[in-house]
Amino acid sequence: MHAYVIGNVAVDETIRVEQWPLAGASIFGSHGSSDLGGKGANQAVVMARCGLTTSLVAPVGAEFRAQSIAERLATEPVECRLLRQEGRSSDFSIIFTTPDGENAIVTTTDAAENLRPEDALPAIREAQPGDLAVFQGNLSGATTEALLTEARRRGMVTAFNPSPLRPSFQDLWPLVDIAFLNAGEALALTGASGEAAAAVLHARGVRDVVLTLGADGALLSGGSAPLRVAAAPANVVDTTGAGDTFMGVALASAFLRGARLDELALIHAARASALTVSRKGTLNAFPSIEEMSAILAQL
Ligand code: ATP
Repeated sequence: MHAYVIGNVAVDETIRVEQWPLAGASIFGSHGSSDLGGKGANQAVVMARCGLTTSLVAPVGAEFRAQSIAERLATEPVECRLLRQEGRSSDFSIIFTTPDGENAIVTTTDAAENLRPEDALPAIREAQPGDLAVFQGNLSGATTEALLTEARRRGMVTAFNPSPLRPSFQDLWPLVDIAFLNAGEALALTGASGEAAAAVLHARGVRDVVLTLGADGALLSGGSAPLRVAAAPANVVDTTGAGDTFMGVALASAFLRGARLDELALIHAARASALTVSRKGTLNAFPSIEEMSAILAQL
């Protein structure tokens, strides 16, 4: 079983400022942290740290950030196909934080938005029936649809996390086997919440629906009766990447056991996400290989 995550990768730079910069002003700041993020990279690294053979297929630019992205990912157990886009910048976020804990984030999307289906198709064409194809919302709607269609044609299991939201996602559900959404995404895309939201997606063809509900845990609908799993206790420091950790671990837990998504997969995901929310950062906050191994060994 091989997982292919087709999505974005971004460099996150955090700058601490005393107050927000105003138009026309130059102000001082200090370096907060540097980390790698982007939902595609996040989910691929999480699955790979769980021990699932995982490839990340992600666009990067043709500048210095591409090199640092490749170097950082080389320290992870994930196989990378970084698709270099001439004349573009790699995606990056500038995060301003103030002493009162507020933040403001600016993210560029030139690389992810402009990935063409033909750039990523060769990676998908290596896949075997039963392999996993994982998508998020950062690629354009047209590219996501083309790649989902090819993944389905090859008999792959398709998983989709519609974040960030785009209206065109409504057309993709018939191509999706497994959907992961948070409460806001579920409401925006189905007009409903909880089991009613899952029912809307089942009616559009989605087999398994996972709704993540922050500190209220998660709901799985698809097999027999819908089931709820509580969040694991956590001292919350920074919730960035909680959803990506949850999705990556739930998928890895199930696929490593050759199982369909089940209660144990969600329990493993909740424990891993509780570690992520208790630490600052993105990849740096995710459970390590050793922590993942201990979580996945629990029954
Ligand atoms: P994000 O966008 O911050 O990555 P999300 O909105 O996609 O997250 P959430 O539903 O907020 O996803 O969180 C995913 C999972 O993370 C939850 O189902 C839960 O298991 C865990 N989690 C989130 N917040 C908390 C919390 N405060 N305490 C414990 N676990 C949490």
